[in-house]
Amino acid sequence: MNKLLIGMDQLSFFNNEDNIRPITRSFKLEDINVIGIGLDILRDRMKPEGENYIGSCPFQHIDTHPSFYLRQKNFYICYGCGAFGGPFSLLFRLTSHSDALDYLKKNFDVDISNKQDLTRLKVCIYSEKERLGSIDYVPLEYQ
Ligand SMILES: [Zn+2]
Repeated sequence: MNKLLIGMDQLSFFNNEDNIRPITRSFKLEDINVIGIGLDILRDRMKPEGENYIGSCPFQHIDTHPSFYLRQKNFYICYGCGAFGGPFSLLFRLTSHSDALDYLKKNFDVDISNKQDLTRLKVCIYSEKERLGSIDYVPLEYQ
């Protein structure tokens, strides 16, 4: 990011050490991030480990030793049950379909009643699927 573009009123956000951490959140759908989604939905369940996050798996199995990771490389993986995918997969697997759409509307201003937004969402979901080669999570509505 070009710092010269930051206005004076925004400088207060850049005055502590937190600013040198990699940015894990984005408000652009195309840059959706698994860590942002994971932390929003799983909250205190996840703890930082290096540049990644680890916690007990949110999917249905007993996970006494945390084996679920949110990776900075924009995927999640569970070494207990093999769950794997990207941010859309995580969002649609952790919440109901309507809650997932509410989340996308609130955080990314994506409203699927708008045809353009729906197309954008489909493109993003399919590029995630292509990037990760995972096939188990494209919501039925978008297949
Ligand atoms: Zn698991």
